[in-house]
Amino acid sequence: MTEHLEILLSEDQIQNRVSEIATQLRQDIGDEPILLLCVLKGAFPFLADLAKKMTGEVLFDFIQVSSWEGGRESKGSVRIKKDHDFDIKGMHVVIVEDIVDSGLTINHLRELLTTRQPASLRVASLLSKPDARTHEAQVEYIGFEISNVFVVGYGLDDDERYRNLPYVAAFVPSSTSD
Ligand code: 5GP
Repeated sequence: MTEHLEILLSEDQIQNRVSEIATQLRQDIGDEPILLLCVLKGAFPFLADLAKKMTGEVLFDFIQVSSWEGGRESKGSVRIKKDHDFDIKGMHVVIVEDIVDSGLTINHLRELLTTRQPASLRVASLLSKPDARTHEAQVEYIGFEISNVFVVGYGLDDDERYRNLPYVAAFVPSSTSD
């Protein structure tokens, strides 16, 4: 079966929503420094846009986990491939994630990072698929809720491709006349 990409969220929609989240984060956390902890690789465009739209002191760090590793389905377990560099104790940390699907990754990260005693810990995810949830996941800031479809673009990949797209798109089957 052949399939093609259909735009689900345009560049404008994404940028407007990211601005709203940036404003909300600063309001909620106040004037103190904020550590944006980007979950590699998918969340890097969200991190970059979010950070540019935020006021006050903002620091970045990166963490990489593997639960999918190339496929279109979760492997059901989470492994830390790259840990963050900062000591997050006493810091206001925001985990910046591309998408919360089953909730497994974010649950695992929240548990792990809580043991490192940040002053506060929040999750900002550009996308959420509520219908795919198998683990209860606390996500304070959600850009968009989407249905349970596989999406690419704006950092999200299909076997490392499409991360560069400025929009989010879903694969849909092509009709035979295409
Ligand atoms: P979870 O642990 O919540 O099931 O999955 C979170 C991770 O799965 C995301 O960070 C992302 O890497 C991957 N993921 C979940 N849904 C999608 C999707 O629709 N497209 C892509 N490209 N990755 C996804």
